[in-house]
Amino acid sequence: MNVADSEIVSSILDQSGYTKTDSIESADVILINTCSIRENAEIRVRGRLSVFKKQKNEHKAIVGVLGCMAERLKDDLIKQEKTVDLVIGPDSYRLLPQMIEEALSGRKVVQTMLSDDETYEDIIPVRYDSNGVSAFVSIMRGCQNFCSYCIVPYVRGVERSRNPQTILKEIEDIQAKGYKEITLIGQNVDSYNFSETNFAKLLNIVALAFPQMRIRFSTNHPKDLSNEVLETMAKYANICRHIHLPVQSGSNHMLQLMNRGYTREYYLERVDAIRKYIPDCAISTDIMVGFCDETEEDHQQTLLLMKEVGYDFAFMFKYSERSGTYASKNMKDNIPEKEKIRRLNEVIDLQNKIGRISKEKELGKTFEVLVEGKSKKSDKEYMGRNSQNKVIVFPSDKALKSGDIVNVQVERFTSATLIGNII
Ligand code: SAM
Ligand code: SF4
Repeated sequence: MNVADSEIVSSILDQSGYTKTDSIESADVILINTCSIRENAEIRVRGRLSVFKKQKNEHKAIVGVLGCMAERLKDDLIKQEKTVDLVIGPDSYRLLPQMIEEALSGRKVVQTMLSDDETYEDIIPVRYDSNGVSAFVSIMRGCQNFCSYCIVPYVRGVERSRNPQTILKEIEDIQAKGYKEITLIGQNVDSYNFSETNFAKLLNIVALAFPQMRIRFSTNHPKDLSNEVLETMAKYANICRHIHLPVQSGSNHMLQLMNRGYTREYYLERVDAIRKYIPDCAISTDIMVGFCDETEEDHQQTLLLMKEVGYDFAFMFKYSERSGTYASKNMKDNIPEKEKIRRLNEVIDLQNKIGRISKEKELGKTFEVLVEGKSKKSDKEYMGRNSQNKVIVFPSDKALKSGDIVNVQVERFTSATLIGNII
């Protein structure tokens, strides 16, 4: 999400005559795009700001904070961080050129109004992906699910879907630039809705219009993932076989406290539906441990659910209280840090085991792999991803380019990757 936003910001600034520099020493304006999801993310931003202080003092650069942390803290950020000249929320990027001018004339500027309809739909983002293979396309902004632990609805505003025509236009541009894969992104793509077009219909339109392009999307919400979406995925080979379906917890008690809008049973039924419609679909998830009042029994339910689903991969977090959320106002962050860490480690250890089983199942299978470049470890090997979003490393005597497609048979695996040979 933040990469996509930074690309929009780059495009707006490009049009106003600014150019991106790779060296901080030559920058007149330093902008940092921020996330507020967990406290750690904000701590890292403050660390970066202290690094920018030197640049500000020695080269008279101005420093701006963009995105969620800007939206959350508003003027307080200027008061707390003397390095900061500009604070711009996620719906105010169009105003950046004039705000930068104001900041350059010595004023401190804060602009954090949220909008009900801004989707930046007419802006073709500047692409950051250096290998030119895969690009993000934002199809909606905001979120109004109000999961009790989550800051997103407060800092990104109400949910807005983007006009499908502008989405198609952006993908045309991406294809013309040589990209081979797009990821349609939103906080809950399953609730995409523009006039008569729901997410399944949008997928259908995109898959038909761009048969040569691999299509991915993220994030799905278990409460809204429809059979219509699964049917559409099954219908088109260019829609990748991977669904990221965050579960957060395997306990109904926790899911209710989190206001997730589904039960463990409903979630498992959705997983069964995925397997029925798309038997070769990879499933990944987000899991959060240590939320308010989580008991050992709740935690065990999460571990059991992980085994039951057999996730291909997972992002795992410990609960971090965010000021302003429903949970911060009405619930107690009462799981001791040591206990949160223990539970998180158990979840990570289990996922490592489950991930190994998921990789073992791929041994001997042949996958179409979209080449992303040379592997990190060796100049003689390439890396790419299969439709299931699994990373595959393989040698090749023939020089390959990013964006090439090859068939690779899996022969072994490490903790993070499948390893094979071109056939
Ligand atoms: N919209 C997506 C969904 O509902 O699944 C996820 C968006 S959020 C950016 C990504 C993940 O961050 C969530 O799935 C959740 O696991 C985690 N997260 C959100 N708020 C959190 C918090 N307060 N503490 C720890 N993790 C959090
Ligand atoms: Fe946050 Fe829930 Fe919205 Fe995801 S769906 S962004 S977790 S409020």
